[in-house]
Amino acid sequence: ESIFTQQASLQEQVQESSIRPHSLAEYIGQPQVREQMQIFIQAARQRQEALDHTLVFGPPGLGKTTLAHILAHEMGSQLKSTSGPVLEKAGDLAALLTNLHAGDVLFIDEIHRLHPAVEEVLYPAMEDYQLDIMIGEGPAARSVKLDLPPFTLVGATTRAGLLTSPLRDRFGIMQRLDFYSVPDLAAIVTRSAKLMHLEITLEGATEIARRARGTPRIANRLLRRVRDFAQVKAQGQVDADLADQALNMLHVDTCGLDMLDRRFLLALIEKFAGRPVGIDTLAAALGEERDTLEDMVEPYLMQQGFILRTPRGRCVSAHAYQHFQLPVPAHLIQ
Ligand code: ADP
Repeated sequence: ESIFTQQASLQEQVQESSIRPHSLAEYIGQPQVREQMQIFIQAARQRQEALDHTLVFGPPGLGKTTLAHILAHEMGSQLKSTSGPVLEKAGDLAALLTNLHAGDVLFIDEIHRLHPAVEEVLYPAMEDYQLDIMIGEGPAARSVKLDLPPFTLVGATTRAGLLTSPLRDRFGIMQRLDFYSVPDLAAIVTRSAKLMHLEITLEGATEIARRARGTPRIANRLLRRVRDFAQVKAQGQVDADLADQALNMLHVDTCGLDMLDRRFLLALIEKFAGRPVGIDTLAAALGEERDTLEDMVEPYLMQQGFILRTPRGRCVSAHAYQHFQLPVPAHLIQ
């Protein structure tokens, strides 16, 4: 499996939970999110109310699950966690809701993948803390209404636009997570290294950070691989040189691009000769889902200035040609 797969394996989830920050103060980067959540949490606590329902969106590995845990911790409450595709029936969600205590956080990952019948149970639950559910079938079916304790729903999704509007409208707080800067990722790597009892220089952490695709999950994953390399090939400290050697050996791109990023850019350059291309055409050419390209590939390539979205389609920039050490076409040279 690629070192860049966006989802965490089970083993990795265990490793991740051991280095996950527990408080907002430990949550590195995302200054606007931290500043706003600090205020919302303090205000809710002063009023002794549950925090408003919060939607967190952004590409995989940027810290949505971590933020949900932190919100519960900062509110002094418990977190119950599930995900959209896991909830098959309205009753699955009802069981979770009726087990909540006042102030608890219910975290639903991939909330855009909720079954419509399950989603409908959420509306009155979010709005009025009411459970409104049909029990039984046919003539014996009856509707049951129950009061729920005040709780906070934290939903996570890769794109806010994937939610139905009735669901989106029921969130009082929306937070978008952005890709992390290199200094922020270096701080995350330094913190993780300390927890792993690994010595690393700032330059070593920065080298890993530069190649982590703006993503804490990938930064921590690269760090674990560099640690293996350091243990076998060197004694002790990880510096820039050692990190560079280890990452080159793993064929990690110097800008942190993964295989699909590279195929995407090379298709624009080679198959379409730098002309604007529609997303559906690109998806067909790459044999990938359009959603995958829009959710996972394009946000980082755009943020890094490799591609531009124009009304006529996706265009590749001079920067992309330079990255592959290809001659920049005349029309891209200003
Ligand atoms: P997501 O839910 O968005 O896919 P996670 O919350 O599971 O991402 O984060 C992936 C990993 O990155 C976790 O190990 C977490 O500890 C780390 N991480 C994410 N955001 C931060 C942050 N702001 N500061 C420190 N570590 C972070």
